[in-house]
Amino acid sequence: MNSKKISVIIPCYNEEEVIRETYNRLTAVMKSIEEKYCYELIFINDGSKDKTIDILRDLSTQHSYVKVISFSRNFGHQIAVTAGIDQANGDAVILIDADLQDPPELILDFLQKWEEGYQVVYAVRRRREGETWFKKITAGLFYRTLKSIVDVDIPLDTGDFRLMSYEVVEVLKSIKERHRFIRGLVSWVGFKQIGIEYDRDKRFAGKTKYPLKKMIKFSIDAITSFSFVPLRVASFLGFFSAFLGLIGILFSLYLKLATDATIQGWTSLMLVVLFLGGMQLLILGIIGEYLGRIYDETRKRPLYVIAEKLGFGNQTNKLKPKQKLTKINM
Ligand code: UDP
Ligand code: MG
Repeated sequence: MNSKKISVIIPCYNEEEVIRETYNRLTAVMKSIEEKYCYELIFINDGSKDKTIDILRDLSTQHSYVKVISFSRNFGHQIAVTAGIDQANGDAVILIDADLQDPPELILDFLQKWEEGYQVVYAVRRRREGETWFKKITAGLFYRTLKSIVDVDIPLDTGDFRLMSYEVVEVLKSIKERHRFIRGLVSWVGFKQIGIEYDRDKRFAGKTKYPLKKMIKFSIDAITSFSFVPLRVASFLGFFSAFLGLIGILFSLYLKLATDATIQGWTSLMLVVLFLGGMQLLILGIIGEYLGRIYDETRKRPLYVIAEKLGFGNQTNKLKPKQKLTKINM
């Protein structure tokens, strides 16, 4: 009997060129294990502007295990994954990118580790194919900086490609924070976790949907959600400049008392003013980042707005106009 259920979550933003192939590869993998497990594929259309949603509608009418959540606009990758997690009811939930950079076949290894008793199985990138050196270097730096300043043990070079058992998913569903860094949250939840190494493929087609602006937002979200170290930089710099000031005072006293020389010109003054002014603005900016996030959380807006849901039993059809704005999730 099909006892255990596997939910696969696939966030999609303008992925018309890859989505069918992704569907095919995922289906092939899931079919190979259908004697042991039943499954659902939950595609989240994150406000795509291309034909992604048409393709998804098509797939979901043809196959009952294909479910679709379509957002009213682009809410971002992490929020799309969150919506998938909220809707998933499998015994294990798998997160995978739509662009086939994460090989669906690795899911078989995930399941094996899960059966061995691990609650989280994450994929560690051994090599990244077909990505720019800029992306590789910034990503490498990002993961290492993050590791050095957060208390939670977030594995290096690990994306969202992973399996989580329902215990972990239940906890994730209860976390309502807005600027979320899902892989960090999963580490925070704990339980028995294990990594599997793999080589990250090239994108099957299309371009990255993570331009520099989104990458920066993503990194700042990650750091601010798990670390207060940037805030403490202010105290460190305060001590540092006080120490420099003390040396300056001692040096001037020495010049005054022991020699006839005096320091001339405005250069030294200007440097001190610029240095301290720059540092103060920088620290204000950092405080602003945290403050803005606190403000954002207190407004309690819903995390995302669903425009259409397909394949989820009763709620199958397009939402009726009256329901539209009430069908939102916190
Ligand atoms: N994605 C999304 N919303 C966004 C950006 C990306 O749902 O605003 C999806 C995208 O369709 C893909 C996954 O997130 O399935 C990862 O994006 P991408 O492959 O472009 O990122 P990269 O691998 O280049 O870091
Ligand atoms: Mg990708």
